[in-house]
Amino acid sequence: MEDVLDRFLRYVKIDTQSEENGLHPSTGKQFVLARLLTEELKAMGADQVYLDEEFCYVYAVIPSNLPEGTAAPAVGFLAHMDTSPAVSGAEVKPRVVRFTGEDVDLGGDGKYILSMRDFPFMKSLIGEELVVTDGSTLLGADDKAGVAEIMAMAETLLTNPEIRHGKLCLCFTPDEEVGGGTAKIDLKRFGADFGYTVDGGPLGGMEYENFNAASGFLTVRGRSIHPGSAKNTMRNALLMAMEFQSLLPAAQDPMYTEGYEGFYHPDEIHGACDCVTVDYIIRDHDRAKFEAKKLFFKNAAAFMNEKYGEGSFKVDMADSYYNMREKIEEHMEVVRIAEQAMRNRGLEPKTIPIRGGTDGARLSYMGLPCPNICTGGFGFHSRFEFIPTFALTEVSNIIIEIIKLSAE
Ligand SMILES: [Zn+2]
Repeated sequence: MEDVLDRFLRYVKIDTQSEENGLHPSTGKQFVLARLLTEELKAMGADQVYLDEEFCYVYAVIPSNLPEGTAAPAVGFLAHMDTSPAVSGAEVKPRVVRFTGEDVDLGGDGKYILSMRDFPFMKSLIGEELVVTDGSTLLGADDKAGVAEIMAMAETLLTNPEIRHGKLCLCFTPDEEVGGGTAKIDLKRFGADFGYTVDGGPLGGMEYENFNAASGFLTVRGRSIHPGSAKNTMRNALLMAMEFQSLLPAAQDPMYTEGYEGFYHPDEIHGACDCVTVDYIIRDHDRAKFEAKKLFFKNAAAFMNEKYGEGSFKVDMADSYYNMREKIEEHMEVVRIAEQAMRNRGLEPKTIPIRGGTDGARLSYMGLPCPNICTGGFGFHSRFEFIPTFALTEVSNIIIEIIKLSAE
């Protein structure tokens, strides 16, 4: 049996960074890890191990070992193989350090200091072993911790057949970080009745609520005239776009919101006097408030059209994803099992509303109820990303506990 830590250290050294390019997979290098996982699953004796050579998904099954005729649900576990484009994932050099409370100089050159001053929560980790970066890359605990924890669980179950379990379905996905994690997934091949993405943060975290999300693409048509002779003729699209923004509730902005508070967010703006485009995103956990926000946005454009003439403001709006809570609420036992598993391991589960989306949200709307559980990692998408070594083992044990409870 390989230690979860050793497994994790091997996986993070493989560069699997994804890219925002709309391809599936977005980068060919993700196949390196996909192939390795496929070989390792076969060597462990997993069943129906399959690598999707076109889209880079790894599937495997651990068949039920319950007495014949015992009904138990097929439980799925998913983790993503790619790392965020935000920080380099090439030549990751993970280090294990004992955290004493003193600053950790990541690269040894004083450039990147992991310090309790910046991350006060680290107080609770004094005395623990942490896997950190050398400051030149992210670590990739997001989500290779999830991958390693699921793989460790698989090896444990396959070498200890006395642990009773129903059918288990594993899937490792590409491109989660660029929104493509579920684009080409084959849920029929996956074969689970419900599942868990193992892709969250600190131990005990449990997530089954996320934003409802829409994009609102605003086009403002002005009229450009030489400013010397523009009186009563020019219509400056830049000022018109600012006027539109001023109609939106100023406090409902990502800069001023948290928890369950939704927002309008102008993410990108392009243009000149003649024409301006603004990329907005609209977010709210509450479906009714979400619909109201979208309507308000459209009404603001209609109001501006009344002022400046029909066609001056155009809104192209599309829903991106929905809060999985709506779907999970029909299957709350899926959440309860994970919460009980954490309690059985001596952890108090903490439910956090996600201020974003997850693969699990998309999967839940595809018919697979799929909350997200912790990996144990901190500071994702950052040079300061780290994971306590005990968390890797603990999450693997939580997964096994979920499996045991699901078979009861
Ligand atoms: Zn992730």
